[in-house]
Amino acid sequence: MDQTPKAVLITPGAPVSTKTHGGRAKCLQRLVRLDLPVPQTVALSFDAVHKIAEGDMVDVHAILSELRPDALVCVRPSSEDPDWGGPGAVLNIGMNDARYVDLSETLGREAAAALYLRFVQSYAVHVARLDPDVFEDVEDGGPDALSEMLQAYEAEADEPFPQDPGEQLAAVLRSMARAWEGTSARLLRAAKGAPEDAGLGLVVQEMVPGLGQGECGSGVLQLVSSQTGMPQLTGRYLSQSQGRDALGSDAAAIYLEHDDRGPSLEELAPEAFQQIKANAALMRQRLREEMQVEFVIESGRVHILDGVRVARSARAALRIAVRLAEDGIISIEEALMRVDAHSMNELMHRQVAPGAQRDVIGTGIAASPGAATGRLVFTATDAQVSKSRGEPCILARRETSPEDVRGMHAAAAVLTEKGGMTSHAAVIGRGLGLPCIVGASSLRFDSRRRQLTARDGRVFKAGDRVTIDGTSGQILAGEPEMMEAAQDDVFQTLMGWADDARDIDIRANADTPADAQTARNFNAQGIGLCRTEHMFFDPGRLTVMREMIFAETPSGRAAVLARLLPMQRKDFRELFRIMEGLPVCIRLFDPPLHEFLPTTNAGQRELSEALGLPVSDVTRRVEEMGEYNPMLGLRGVRLGVTVPEIYDMQARAIFEATLEASHDGDPVVPEIMIPLVSAKREVELVKTRVDAVAAAVKSERGRDFTYRLGVMVETPRAALRADEIAVHTAFMSFGTNDLTQMTYGLSRDDAGRFMSVYVQQGVFPEDPFHVLDVDGVGELLQLGAQRGRMTRPDITLSICGEHGGNPESIAFCRAAGFDYVSCSPYRVPVARLAAAQLAIADKTGQKLPRSLKN
Ligand code: PEP
Ligand code: MG
Repeated sequence: MDQTPKAVLITPGAPVSTKTHGGRAKCLQRLVRLDLPVPQTVALSFDAVHKIAEGDMVDVHAILSELRPDALVCVRPSSEDPDWGGPGAVLNIGMNDARYVDLSETLGREAAAALYLRFVQSYAVHVARLDPDVFEDVEDGGPDALSEMLQAYEAEADEPFPQDPGEQLAAVLRSMARAWEGTSARLLRAAKGAPEDAGLGLVVQEMVPGLGQGECGSGVLQLVSSQTGMPQLTGRYLSQSQGRDALGSDAAAIYLEHDDRGPSLEELAPEAFQQIKANAALMRQRLREEMQVEFVIESGRVHILDGVRVARSARAALRIAVRLAEDGIISIEEALMRVDAHSMNELMHRQVAPGAQRDVIGTGIAASPGAATGRLVFTATDAQVSKSRGEPCILARRETSPEDVRGMHAAAAVLTEKGGMTSHAAVIGRGLGLPCIVGASSLRFDSRRRQLTARDGRVFKAGDRVTIDGTSGQILAGEPEMMEAAQDDVFQTLMGWADDARDIDIRANADTPADAQTARNFNAQGIGLCRTEHMFFDPGRLTVMREMIFAETPSGRAAVLARLLPMQRKDFRELFRIMEGLPVCIRLFDPPLHEFLPTTNAGQRELSEALGLPVSDVTRRVEEMGEYNPMLGLRGVRLGVTVPEIYDMQARAIFEATLEASHDGDPVVPEIMIPLVSAKREVELVKTRVDAVAAAVKSERGRDFTYRLGVMVETPRAALRADEIAVHTAFMSFGTNDLTQMTYGLSRDDAGRFMSVYVQQGVFPEDPFHVLDVDGVGELLQLGAQRGRMTRPDITLSICGEHGGNPESIAFCRAAGFDYVSCSPYRVPVARLAAAQLAIADKTGQKLPRSLKN
């Protein structure tokens, strides 16, 4: 049987806990234990409140008998987690005609009327559920308004305003208890992660009126800024006020600390001010948290009504956690657990400022976080022109293809009409740390006229200024206020702590030397995926690449590849140099070749000039190479098998770069990865040729080196046949972008069109391209890992799809015993923190942050 008393006076030894009475009740008990001047408070348990909702009222007179006989009381909610919300507080319970007369004598008529009026208003609206319009408009808060409200109450409720404090309290408790059980409250808290059966506690507290003679008033105080987390005394005080009135936007509240801009509490009531400040410091120390103190001053005497966790932005949360640990108040592990890994994204990029005005013209999938403003351009070339003029631009395309990569480099942000979380624009955007929204089908794209039309009919033409908020997925007109990225000292400190705690490696997906440098700056432990095709989109190389594609014979192709070889060698040498001996995993060429060919007439004309061929030949060849379903066509290892010279050239470039880079430092051990494998024979064929190239380079240069050959597991068949494939490979890296696409039979480039409907209707709990589908795709990962280990126990296992940067997916990989995850460089810090939190949770049994719970 439940031994928890239904209602208990909060004393240092009372049986009150967060699990039975909620966070507020427990916090008040802690304040009482600290000997702070907290008014008498009675806590009602979850169970008691649940019973009240069902009609079984507690003994209200027993509750009132614990409190001063003439005191007014307030009731406030106390859920287990304050984030789950709860009904609003009701103040001044106990006010009635007789008290009004008494208080008029002690506090003055105006003050007494204000107390009574406030109670009648909130009782009428929230307890008696009368029409709010009748009770909300009061000109002034004096005795006349009071009698008007009392009459209005009687007229609307058909009975006089209740006078018995017990009856009033019971009605308030009942209405708050029932509000918590209502459907909308349930849905709201479920959205915040509350369990279905989350309970509500209530606290009934004796009130100290902030009204009356002498210095009376109320306010709030905290020791840090909610925006930055920096030490900064923050809050407001309002004489002759109650509750959180001082925070009202039109309140004539004053500063707390001395301030040249106006009067302050420090000057008005210096002793009270010092006492509240000292109390806040004590709460920080003993409650191990930055707290906002809610206080009342009654004729100069301080009362502490409550302490609530300081509200905080992502950057403030990080600084607060680090400072608490540095001050020895919490452990480093706890500091790590207190920062939401997802929120680290916010610190990595410029963001729209929290209070900024947002003129939203459309929304799409938030594919790459951060925000940027610029002039709209509709082609990659215009983006480059804009960049050369030093003007930031937003590149808007129906979708992007490899041809747009240069334009993406030049743009401040990218917007596409089509696509999903792993479509081209999204992947490149994240790689470059470029804000990106894809699948923005709420806007009409007219590339020919170079304009976008919003749902509300507004038209935005090339040159108009818009802002892409890749964190929220909103497209905004104009330029809202921005907040800069914050990878400052505390960020670095926390990251260092995370690295000490975690037990899975984090690598980065990096395609260019610039990406590799970013990866190093974020302390990635190597490159887990270098998509080599991205190196061919450089203007000087694209034409050579196209020449290679147009070559009719193997010898013709070999001649062109010989020109690409030194370029690739230079790329790889640069990557090895930047990574300084850390592992670098280079994926051999993956996309279908026709992605490199021009699609427009103008582009084909240009190419015919460059190659000295008739346009008709170029057009014919482009058409010939077209495929119905290129993502499932001639790409990846299939190219390696059918046009092996490309992989030969790449292998040679890797090995030559290996030898050259090993001159300057530790020997480099490159990792070569074969994409899109589905059969063991594919691996055998490629391996034979790569081994032959290695042998040739060794003998030509007279030097030895080692390398590791592995495969990407991104087709379901590769996962199912991992046992036979693993025989030939040192590692298997799961390419969960393609694997998700193929497991669901769901195009990663087209999913954006219906994904939001699917998620809204609960078909998928989340976009599976964003959060790994642990049930389906996850099962393939587990099977693949298990079967691979069967034939090769020491095989290195990893994931390099976009999921590698997602905290929930990292949890899965770590649990499956993977060696590392690899993600876009800008997501590396998120991954480092998430991995640390998972390790700490395992080691210490601490609860995982909400962001990591599945
Ligand atoms: C994948 O498919 O998961 C992958 C990493 O490769 P890409 O995104 O280049 O297809
Ligand atoms: Mg792939």
